[in-house]
Amino acid sequence: MNEQRVAELIRELLKEIGEDPDREGLRRTPSRVARSLAFLMSGYGADLKETINQAVFESHANNMIIIRDIEIYSLCEHHMLPFYGRCHVGYIAAAKVLGASKLARITNCFARRLQIQERLTAQIAREIKSAVNAEGVGVVMECRHLCMMMRGVEKQNSIMTTSSVLGSFHNDAATRAEFLTLIGRPIA
Ligand code: ZN
Repeated sequence: MNEQRVAELIRELLKEIGEDPDREGLRRTPSRVARSLAFLMSGYGADLKETINQAVFESHANNMIIIRDIEIYSLCEHHMLPFYGRCHVGYIAAAKVLGASKLARITNCFARRLQIQERLTAQIAREIKSAVNAEGVGVVMECRHLCMMMRGVEKQNSIMTTSSVLGSFHNDAATRAEFLTLIGRPIA
């Protein structure tokens, strides 16, 4: 991303919405927005393979591993407005497990792009499955979308839930039920 170029575009955008980009409060806004966007969109350039390889450990206990309440911050690709919330991840390791902090790296890598929640959920699940060759993976994500809350239908309290289940989490109802119970979302 060319931050200089992005800053110029933001300056143009400010004029277009009726602002004066030269007034005191806005003078450094274009460069701030450019820097902020470079961070928020850094998932496009992230080298996930490199990150993950250093954090995969041998394990032969094939129990279910659960990590709850991983914070998610992303931008929707339809309005470029934030959506944010939590994601819960579970997987059954075949012979390898992932360092817990690396799960957060995986979620950040895919969240720091223009996204829709459904795709973000599926990409995280697929990445975990392939990183440790897991026999099954489940991801549940609950997010609030500012494009729904601030504009459009103005539904301030609705939370969108998406899920992606792969392998044994998909094929075996008991495994899926165990996962949902462990993340606090048991089937009624
Ligand atoms: Zn949107």
